[in-house]
Amino acid sequence: MDFILDSKERVRKVEEENSVFVSRLSDLERERESHATQYNNNEKHSLRTCKNCKTQYDPVLNHPRSCRFHTAHFGGETRRKFESVYSGGTMNSPDSGKVFQYWHCCGSEDPFDPGCTAAPHSSYDD
Ligand SMILES: [Zn+2]
Ligand SMILES: [Zn+2]
Repeated sequence: MDFILDSKERVRKVEEENSVFVSRLSDLERERESHATQYNNNEKHSLRTCKNCKTQYDPVLNHPRSCRFHTAHFGGETRRKFESVYSGGTMNSPDSGKVFQYWHCCGSEDPFDPGCTAAPHSSYDD
């Protein structure tokens, strides 16, 4: 009989401990929820401006390839100059004196080219 009483006592203790755990757990969940709310509130105000691509980004969602940009400017240059830089030009090709527009980093002629370089966004505060 002693054994049964003993084990009943043990069960009671375990149940008691369980209820402590359960209440601790719901405390933690409440805490987590309040953190999540804080986090969501902060998120709305934490947009930063990237110094590379000049767009607003969320630092929380930033990743190593989220920023596309060119490392040099888009502008006009003569074909002669372009070829001397990109294809070791002969300087004698037709239209070599003609000016055309391109990105000076990669030679892309599309002004809307999103970028030849990928990096994480970087703000002026970093
Ligand atoms: Zn480029
Ligand atoms: Zn960027």
